[in-house]
Amino acid sequence: MTPRIRPDLASVPAYVPGKTFPGSVKLASNEVTFGPLPSVARAIADAATSLNRYPDNGMVELTETIAKKLGVPPDAIQTGCGSVSLCQNLITITCTPGDEVLFAWRSFETYPLATRVAGATPVQVPLTGDRVHDLTAMADAITDRTRLIFVCNPNNPTGTVVEAQALVDFLEKVPPEVVVALDEAYVEYVRPSQTQAYDAIELQRRFSNVVVLRTFSKAYGLAGLRVGYAVADAAVIDGLRRVHVPFSVNSLAQAAATACLHADDELLARTEAVVAERARVAGRLRELGYVVPESQANFVWLDLGDDAAPFAAAALDARVVIRPFAGDGVRVTIGDTVENDQFLTFAGTWAGRDGAVAHH
Ligand SMILES: *Cc1c(COP(=O)(O)O)cnc(C)c1O
Repeated sequence: MTPRIRPDLASVPAYVPGKTFPGSVKLASNEVTFGPLPSVARAIADAATSLNRYPDNGMVELTETIAKKLGVPPDAIQTGCGSVSLCQNLITITCTPGDEVLFAWRSFETYPLATRVAGATPVQVPLTGDRVHDLTAMADAITDRTRLIFVCNPNNPTGTVVEAQALVDFLEKVPPEVVVALDEAYVEYVRPSQTQAYDAIELQRRFSNVVVLRTFSKAYGLAGLRVGYAVADAAVIDGLRRVHVPFSVNSLAQAAATACLHADDELLARTEAVVAERARVAGRLRELGYVVPESQANFVWLDLGDDAAPFAAAALDARVVIRPFAGDGVRVTIGDTVENDQFLTFAGTWAGRDGAVAHH
């Protein structure tokens, strides 16, 4: 007899993390190139001296610091072990087997996986030809089984953002009992046009079914410590707290994230270099003939169709690790100038091969 494991889990694909190859430039996981600020490293070292104690399960100091920054009450905030765990917890608190979780596709890989793990049904609505969320089609896809909708803005892996008015129109169409998770993992990199600008916290106040998800993994540079947060109505936060795995936001993560918020200006100033490099990299790729949608995140997407996998394999030979999505495209993180140049040199060589990008 083998132990009985839920048979449906066998068909859930495993999460594919970005790979690391020593000696290669890693542009596969949307991390920042730099390590923690000295003040943050110090906070981590200080917290290490009391690792014999359990973490604060209420995450009080971090929660209050976030709440103060955003101008919301602490009971509008729940932190989690990375915002992926909050994505998973949102599914747990909204869905029973057979319920539907709606999201755009292609989008963040966690959404379909976590949905299937919960026994719920993923409903995927294709992006537009410009690789933007098709919010009209998403509104049309809502059924009486829809319990949760993810809107990833900017969208991972395409980097695109929605128009602010389109988002408001969409939220007005969503039944108020259906939770909408606005996943803003890359919000710090957004430099919106006038028509793209919105205040997520304001939207959350206006629509009590909206949950804003943010993370310390990306612009704040704490991917290795695992901490993110949700901003939501007290009823949603109460649900999230009920399913929170005790002590899953560890002491080092709590101390580091709090220190990051105290060094907010310095950390956010770093995003300017990435934004400038994003424009340079995207511009150069387009000159080379690649199709690159407008990105507002710390990565760019290249439409490559069937060339995606061979392109990524060849990049690896050139010592640049990127993220392929076979049959569709590749996502390339914006690193520092040297890293980006190494990728651009490769992309130039690939484009120079016979008709390599001409048919896209
Ligand atoms: C990276 C990412 C997250 C957050 O990841 P954590 O490290 O778990 O906080 C959430 N959503 C999207 C779309 C992401 O790309």
